Amino acid sequence: MAGLLSMRNVAVLGATGSIGASALDVIARHPDRLRATVLAAGRNVEALVALCVAHRPLHAVIADPAGLPGLEAGLRAAGLATQAHAGDEILDALAASDTCDTVVAAIVGAAGLPSTLAAARAGKRILLANKESLVLAGELLMQAAHDAGATIVPVDSEHNAIFQCLPDAHAHAGLRRIVLTASGGPFRGRQRGELASVTPEQAVAHPKWSMGPKISVDSATLMNKGLEVIEAHHLFGVDGDRIAVWVHPQSLVHSLVEFVDGSTLAQLGLPDMRTALAVGFGWPERISSGVSGLDLLTQGGRLDFEAPDLESFPCLRLAFEALATGGTAPAVLNAANEIAVSAFLQRRMGFLAIPALVEETLATLPAAPANSLEVLREADRQARHLAEQSIPRMAALA
Ligand code: NAD
Ligand code: MG
Repeated sequence: MAGLLSMRNVAVLGATGSIGASALDVIARHPDRLRATVLAAGRNVEALVALCVAHRPLHAVIADPAGLPGLEAGLRAAGLATQAHAGDEILDALAASDTCDTVVAAIVGAAGLPSTLAAARAGKRILLANKESLVLAGELLMQAAHDAGATIVPVDSEHNAIFQCLPDAHAHAGLRRIVLTASGGPFRGRQRGELASVTPEQAVAHPKWSMGPKISVDSATLMNKGLEVIEAHHLFGVDGDRIAVWVHPQSLVHSLVEFVDGSTLAQLGLPDMRTALAVGFGWPERISSGVSGLDLLTQGGRLDFEAPDLESFPCLRLAFEALATGGTAPAVLNAANEIAVSAFLQRRMGFLAIPALVEETLATLPAAPANSLEVLREADRQARHLAEQSIPRMAALA
């Protein structure tokens, strides 16, 4: 077992994002046991250079090749020895290399799959935030991790909660069902008709969590919870009919597991992703995260729960249906949703067009068995193409 003084070398993929910032905050609290060796980002060169100055990694990767000259110049100007790289291939190679033993998979969207898969195949400890990679290719990713002896610690707060409540195979054997909690997002309690004119600014203003724009919109549509249902299915081997969703506006109970003997275990804490990340870095040890403990008395002393409203938020229903259909359906759901969210954020269509576009894309592309990465990638590509073409029509309808 890892001793107290063993050093983890960490690749933070998606370093400039919300999860990336939380991960680097936890890393910086433990200079004796955590070191960021690789930092990777999409296109924000300036932010990446600033993180390199603070964390002095061995390698910095910018996905967008146009960013390479700026990255090189920035690192040189800062007098850093950090090596600059660009593109996806080197990202996958570094995630699999000896430069790191631990990978924080925090790229947003299906773009995170190749590097997560590379880390799984190389047997790394993966702190998995990038839920889209499990939705798109859950079976393949879990199999690759199993074959290579990789450890996946989910850092999505709900799945991290379940991970903490299911410590061993015996607990797993007696599991009756999983209950994922959901904050309900910024539009909880609204009727469908009231959602037609909501703006991107309103949708990304999450009441409890501070997150990147894509997952914030997903939280507002409840697609985030839908993706999490599929994520839970892959991580914990539980079918959709044994996964429930309870809306819990305080976001203090992060999820629950119910056992055959009538026991329910839950994990509670303040809504701050550093807790889940610290669990991922330290497990099975506990390390400090910078998050205070939970005092339910000062939190108002209440924990409320209600059923989700599938009429106003059909994305959750669509995700349950895609999971039940299986094959390429979850990949199509995810791809259509990424296109829909991006079109909504660019004000090319309204909020209600998001579920409409996802539903239509699922109805148009028949689900096929998903026995290879190629099949899934092709389903992802077709769904993106089809959804993109339908945006103007959807904008007029919804
Ligand atoms: P974000 O938008 O804040 O950050 C995304 C990061 O990914 C950025 O660093 C960006 O540069 C990078 N990126 C984007 N495209 C890339 C590409 N093609 N190649 C390399 N890097 C790329 O998003 P976030 O909120 O940090 O979420 C990241 C992931 O974690 C998502 O999958 C999200 O669902 C999941 N997650 C986030 C939270 C949260 O609290 N923010 C909670 C649970 C799960
Ligand atoms: Mg979550």
